[in-house]
Amino acid sequence: MQLLLNKGEKALDFKIISEFYNPLLQRKELLVEIIHPNESTPERYSVRKSLALKLNTEINNLYIRKMESKTGMNSTLCEVEIYENEKIAKAILPKHILLRNLPPEQRVKKTEESKAKKWFGMSKNTQRTKSEKVKARARFLYEVDFEKNIIKLKNKKCPRCGNIMAFHKSPVERWTCGACSYTDFVKKS
Ligand SMILES: [Zn+2]
Repeated sequence: MQLLLNKGEKALDFKIISEFYNPLLQRKELLVEIIHPNESTPERYSVRKSLALKLNTEINNLYIRKMESKTGMNSTLCEVEIYENEKIAKAILPKHILLRNLPPEQRVKKTEESKAKKWFGMSKNTQRTKSEKVKARARFLYEVDFEKNIIKLKNKKCPRCGNIMAFHKSPVERWTCGACSYTDFVKKS
């Protein structure tokens, strides 16, 4: 795919702070600092485009997981991940990160679509009341043993922030925290 910057879009000035290849997740992990003196934080998709151009990578393989601007510093730190192909990226990255990496106009459209699905997607007889939803969620998260009177959390809690972690099977078995992206790989013995 040919990447071209739009009119008025400048190639960004950036510095690679660290680079690491993660063989388990088949991706390169980079910490990149973007320098933007006297300008506001650049838009995520234009950062993505600029980085793909300069690093000579397909844009579909490059994703920005996190962007953090230091106040008064005129620079932004970005956690960048470059995957071997788009398929692996889509299998590993959480949906909200994939959504954030879309061009702004597509991002709006997708968000509207999923909102519409949420509200109107279910047919009348499968729509649940609020209390039914709470019950279903509790059963989803906890294992209940009525004989022994034990309620056990099915999922693990994040050791870093305390949120409930999700288990992923593919491509490597791992527990991930959706809130702080702490990851724990399942060791096979
Ligand atoms: Zn966490």
